[in-house]
Amino acid sequence: GAFNASSLITHSQVRWDDIGGLDEVKRLMMETIVIAGLKKPESVKPWKGILLYGPPGTGKTLLAAAAAGSLNASFFDVKADKIVSKYFGESSKLISGLYTAARSHAPSIVFLDEFDALSQSRSDDTSDATRKLLSSLLTELDGLQDKKSDRLLLTLAATNTPWDLDTAVLSRFPRRIFIPLPDEAACREIIRIHTESLDISSLNLDELGAECVKKRYSGRDIHTLCQQAMWTMIRDENTELHNLALLPFDELQKRSLKVRALSM
Ligand code: ATP
Repeated sequence: GAFNASSLITHSQVRWDDIGGLDEVKRLMMETIVIAGLKKPESVKPWKGILLYGPPGTGKTLLAAAAAGSLNASFFDVKADKIVSKYFGESSKLISGLYTAARSHAPSIVFLDEFDALSQSRSDDTSDATRKLLSSLLTELDGLQDKKSDRLLLTLAATNTPWDLDTAVLSRFPRRIFIPLPDEAACREIIRIHTESLDISSLNLDELGAECVKKRYSGRDIHTLCQQAMWTMIRDENTELHNLALLPFDELQKRSLKVRALSM
């Protein structure tokens, strides 16, 4: 079907506190947002875009969602690879549609995930559609710089392969932030975040944190680990679950799930 940029708008509930570790990154992003909002002299041009790069599952999407959530801004969560493969021929129109919608619903955070799909180095593929796509992207990124508006429009681009990016596109993102795998302290925080409201007093967080670093776990891996531990605990503790499936739903709602301390 036809692409409708307004259908991409969401409103994020994510808060900065939902992100474990990355304190310095969070601080930089908050500063960028605050400076964009403050009254300032003409010559002070705030950053209009930030490139987040690093291994998969480390919180790039979460950071963008937290930026939007903290501002109560319109959040355009764009999976660039999907758009390019689905709407290849019209993807340049799509970029201008996206930014038109973002401007009219500002304050807006435009998150371009899998950014490399939009801006592969031109030498790899010089097809007409690719060139058009790139030039419309550059036009939008430049246009933002000049347009006089007191309403925030911030582009956050994310990639796991920054070396694939076209240099003309890269130059529009002088602000680049590396998002690393979590260190021990961050792993502990991420475990706490994903076991919120569960009893984790029996966990040895120091040991677990060290283990996660040793295995080079990402935040996504830690999230999965916590989910699995939770499911195991629930199934061990509630052996009669399949019998309860025979109950009418309003009966079910009168009973509670048994939970004990989480172990990993
Ligand atoms: P990709 O590069 O694969 O798109 P990403 O860097 O955008 O990944 P996210 O989508 O932000 O990663 O993270 C995936 C999931 O992993 C999150 O929804 C969250 O559950 C968990 N996660 C990742 N990093 C963190 C973190 N620092 N704190 C808490 N949870 C995290």
